[in-house]
Amino acid sequence: VIELGQPEHSILTTCAYCGVGCGFKAEMKGAQVVRMVPWKDGQANEGHSCIKGRFAWGYATHKDRITQPMIRAKISDPWQEVSWDEAFSHAAAEFRRIQAEYGRDAVGGITSSRCTNEEAYLVQKLVRAALGTNNVDTCARVCHSPTGYGLGQTFGTSAGTQTFKSVEHTDVALVIGANPSEGHPVFASRLKKRLRQGAKLIVIDPRRIELVDSPHIHAEAHLQLKPGTNVAVITALAHVVVTEGLINEAFVAERCEPKSFAQWRDFVARPEQSPEVTAEITGVPAEAVRRAARLYAQGGSGGNSAIYYGLGVTEHAQGSTMVMGIANLAMACGMVGREGVGVNPLRGQNNVQGSCDMGSFPHELPGYRHVSDTTVRALFESAWGVTLDPEPGLRIPNMFDAALDGSFKALYVQGEDPAQSDPNTQHVAAALASMACVVVQDLFLNETAQYAHVFLPGSSFLEKDGTFTNAERRINRVRQVMPPLAGLADWEVTQKLAQALGYPMAYRHPSEIMDEIAALTPSFAGVSFDKIDRLGSVQWPCNDSTPEAGTAIMHVGHFVRGLGRFFITQYVPSDEKITRRFPLILTTGRVLSQYNVGAQTRRTANSAWHGEDRLEIHPLDAEERGIQDAEWVSLESRVGQTMLRARVTERVQPGVVYTTFHFPDRGPT
Ligand code: SF4
Repeated sequence: VIELGQPEHSILTTCAYCGVGCGFKAEMKGAQVVRMVPWKDGQANEGHSCIKGRFAWGYATHKDRITQPMIRAKISDPWQEVSWDEAFSHAAAEFRRIQAEYGRDAVGGITSSRCTNEEAYLVQKLVRAALGTNNVDTCARVCHSPTGYGLGQTFGTSAGTQTFKSVEHTDVALVIGANPSEGHPVFASRLKKRLRQGAKLIVIDPRRIELVDSPHIHAEAHLQLKPGTNVAVITALAHVVVTEGLINEAFVAERCEPKSFAQWRDFVARPEQSPEVTAEITGVPAEAVRRAARLYAQGGSGGNSAIYYGLGVTEHAQGSTMVMGIANLAMACGMVGREGVGVNPLRGQNNVQGSCDMGSFPHELPGYRHVSDTTVRALFESAWGVTLDPEPGLRIPNMFDAALDGSFKALYVQGEDPAQSDPNTQHVAAALASMACVVVQDLFLNETAQYAHVFLPGSSFLEKDGTFTNAERRINRVRQVMPPLAGLADWEVTQKLAQALGYPMAYRHPSEIMDEIAALTPSFAGVSFDKIDRLGSVQWPCNDSTPEAGTAIMHVGHFVRGLGRFFITQYVPSDEKITRRFPLILTTGRVLSQYNVGAQTRRTANSAWHGEDRLEIHPLDAEERGIQDAEWVSLESRVGQTMLRARVTERVQPGVVYTTFHFPDRGPT
């Protein structure tokens, strides 16, 4: 436990880990945090917290923090400490030299879902306005960008529909590809409370997650599908709803597009979509699918079914299709637009919703408005004093492909570690190594920094002001509790880099950045720091047509896009095939005490709870390979290999192995 004496005062702020967005009181002694206490009036957590937010904040002052800017000519050279001004001048000169030689679009930037809204906004503004390209993307590219696209297409807005509190009215909870007990613990407690009160639970997951076996909770159905077959399962559920007459006809007639609904209904009703036929693909017994579909469509005792989903839905080649499949099912059953129902993506990172909202996509300006829209572009051009490119830029994977082709040469990465967290890290590493200038802004010398030419010290959530937006569209305040260790907060670093590039930015405080966002983005028009400070938080959309604190439940009465739109969800088998050489499928997840690639939590006492990644393997697969529990095993895929200690368990099914990804590759010592 990291508690350092009696506090003298406290400052309210927001947890910087998961998308629940718990409010905390940072209890202080001078400029030193003594402890973090969950805020009882925090609207996302109501006084609750988990082991990460409560205890894992000591990384902010860890000895590994880099507090001096550094540059080097080649990635094989040693780092040279320089002043901030030298670092900015060097990075700016390199970006301009590369653009002069290879063209405007040879450079790009990646925003962070760990940083504030204001910081994400500034990075995309720097890329678009100062560098003149739409080559900006966010780390959500490898997690929840299918949510943005899928819900945007079907409902008209790229966000979850409910508040967390809405689960108190839920009678049937359908949890798909998420493990809230580990990933979103404070929401999991709320869900479990409701389940203990009698709400029904359906889980769709290849692994037997904690919720399935949680005390006093009975999962009515656990559809333990084969990894990669989500779309076949959701379509089979829809097949049952359509063919057994479980459609909410009144809702569909009033709220949805007749044509797309008719096409979808005809598609899912085909015999080949039935649970009996798709069982062959999914491995899920037909009767379990039928039972789950009936339960979801009828909504248990009170008629309210809600879907909660996570990265098991989105981190697939068919991620967007699956999100649309979920939306189709919810619309067909009339489970949108009131308390207790809805489609609820459980966002992984603290500000993945916000970074997406802030225009971190190569095709969208803030507020999810397409760069090809002349009116929208004119609005930003007038405010930013530049001409914007009407063509979408490169997404992260395209940037890496282009780097290997030789056409993409420089990257500015804020608060993100693609060399450790993106798929196919060897490909990513090769792409980064091929670039002429990589600028990394981070707390630590992370894996990506191995390929950097400029390192700009980042600032933790304790060192800056701003806002995070959680999974329920709730905009929470982040308040500075101590000065930035390196002298500049992340937003100031981006601002000074823009200035070095010759583009004027002169914000005096992040509240001024939010004022600009509000002036340019209709769904944020009513958002200001003053209002958040007064009300505790607001939920977007928040403007003249919403209540003062914004919108708790979306799509009440009508969808944001008008009529809800159905999409055909054709299952396409994954390219990752089982072969004699590669007979197992690997899936990944998180544990309660660690967070993502572990850069923060590994540098805290939380590692006492979970100090290594383990490979879960079914007893039959272990026996076949002569693997004992706790033994080191070598794991190899088409794109890499690693060594992990085995955990022999029936949590995974035969043919599937599972691990967490909190620790860098490390063999037996
Ligand atoms: Fe809350 Fe998530 Fe932070 Fe835990 S990690 S305290 S659930 S915001």
